[in-house]
Amino acid sequence: MDNEQLSMMDLVIEAHVGLDRQGPGSAEVTVKALSFLDNIDRISRTADLGCGTGGQTMVLAQNIAGNIVGVDQFSDFISVLNENAKKQNLQERVTGVVGSMENLSFQQEEFDLIWSEGAIDNIGFEKGLTYWNRFLKKGGHVAVTCPSWFTDEHPAEVEAFWAEAGSNLDTIGNNVSIMQKAGYIPVAAFILPERCWTDRYFVPRQAAEQELLKKYAGNKTVEAFIESNHYEETLYSKYKQFYGYAFYIGKKI
Ligand code: SAH
Repeated sequence: MDNEQLSMMDLVIEAHVGLDRQGPGSAEVTVKALSFLDNIDRISRTADLGCGTGGQTMVLAQNIAGNIVGVDQFSDFISVLNENAKKQNLQERVTGVVGSMENLSFQQEEFDLIWSEGAIDNIGFEKGLTYWNRFLKKGGHVAVTCPSWFTDEHPAEVEAFWAEAGSNLDTIGNNVSIMQKAGYIPVAAFILPERCWTDRYFVPRQAAEQELLKKYAGNKTVEAFIESNHYEETLYSKYKQFYGYAFYIGKKI
């Protein structure tokens, strides 16, 4: 690609395509969230929305039966997911498709489980939960992670950062109430440990940034991209007692 024509979005994709996860999370936390499902043995069809390259999709496939379809807007991420499914001999059960989380081409009540890590805030917690509800069977579960306020105090710097990223954070209490209103019984909510941000996300991303710096030496967009990632890390380290990711698990009424 021509150095001068690189966009921020190109860099977001290129920095993340080789990573196991494209946001805070871990296999342990995915497995912990699964432990709250009371009908795990009866799952036959799952959707993983905003699946990225499918780090958590593979963890799901190793822990539940049936078919899993991953949906993401970026074809580069979906290609990696499908290659990994083949490598792990899971291609009969795990399929990635390019699509929008806001406009799904599935049947009503098609799924036993709708999963979504680090993605729902892109369309809004309430909007996503309300829209996805129709695709779940009655008694099926939804499990999502979303950046959330831990306190009623909301530092302006953090608020501005997330608003710029297109996300409106809410408190865990409010989100649980939104989940209830969207047609689910809230089953559990828990905070992701700090290492899900640091060791599992920021550290691998920093390694990818070094590769970009080498490949596109002197490119201003690359420098701005890395600077904005660095700001995200500094902000997290400074304000991590105020916000972070929470997992929300609900059961369709
Ligand atoms: N679930 C993965 C990826 C999280 S990053 C993980 O936890 O590692 C968020 C993902 O959501 C990105 O891959 C992004 O492409 C996808 N995404 C964001 N908005 C989307 C939309 N409207 N439709 C489909 N995918 C979307």
